Amino acid sequence: MFKYETHLHTREASACASASGAEQAARYKELGYDGIIVTDHFFNGNCTAEIRDATDPAEKIALFCKGYENAKAEGDRIGLKVFFGWEYCYNGADLLTYGLDKDWLLRNPDVCAISVFDYCRRVHRDGGYIVHAHPFREAGYLNEIRLLPQWTDAVEAYNCGNSSRDMDARASWYAQQYGKPVTAGTDNHHLTADPISGVFTEAPLMTVQDYINAVANREVGLVIP
Ligand SMILES: [Zn+2]
Ligand SMILES: [Zn+2]
Repeated sequence: MFKYETHLHTREASACASASGAEQAARYKELGYDGIIVTDHFFNGNCTAEIRDATDPAEKIALFCKGYENAKAEGDRIGLKVFFGWEYCYNGADLLTYGLDKDWLLRNPDVCAISVFDYCRRVHRDGGYIVHAHPFREAGYLNEIRLLPQWTDAVEAYNCGNSSRDMDARASWYAQQYGKPVTAGTDNHHLTADPISGVFTEAPLMTVQDYINAVANREVGLVIP
């Protein structure tokens, strides 16, 4: 069995995170995980002020990828897979986006200037995969629940950052209603994060595409702490 974190932030790119990419990689290695997917808050979410204020697209993207790159360098050193993704924000609907890379960001500098629907179209056109993170979370920073079943591929049915398990139960119900695959993630921002979630697989994941295929084919188990 192989274990992966699917939802994780780094302080290099997420304003609300305190752990660096390298620290996150080291911690998951210690916890016995086989890999992590770095999903920092995107340009339209809670990214760092430095990223938000950067006007040159190449510089903005370089700053955004730092957390992933630092985690990847550490992962390569210690033997932990590190994959890239991000958490796109649409007024409270958080869309974990997997399968696209830094080059894709460089080729799509207008990605936050287009509508969420055009964003989803473009992500799918280019082979990306969208998991709706904690769709039923209720928190002070969220004004409403927004569901986008026709635009998303899978549902995060367990998230350690949800303040009540009812929110996960509703997410599972939602996924079931629409016949969507499910994932689980910690939404880890800090080295103190506890408990830790994620997914497990029978076969090792060598690329983020392997992760996408495993989710789409319903070959992942959920790590429910
Ligand atoms: Zn955050
Ligand atoms: Zn998150």
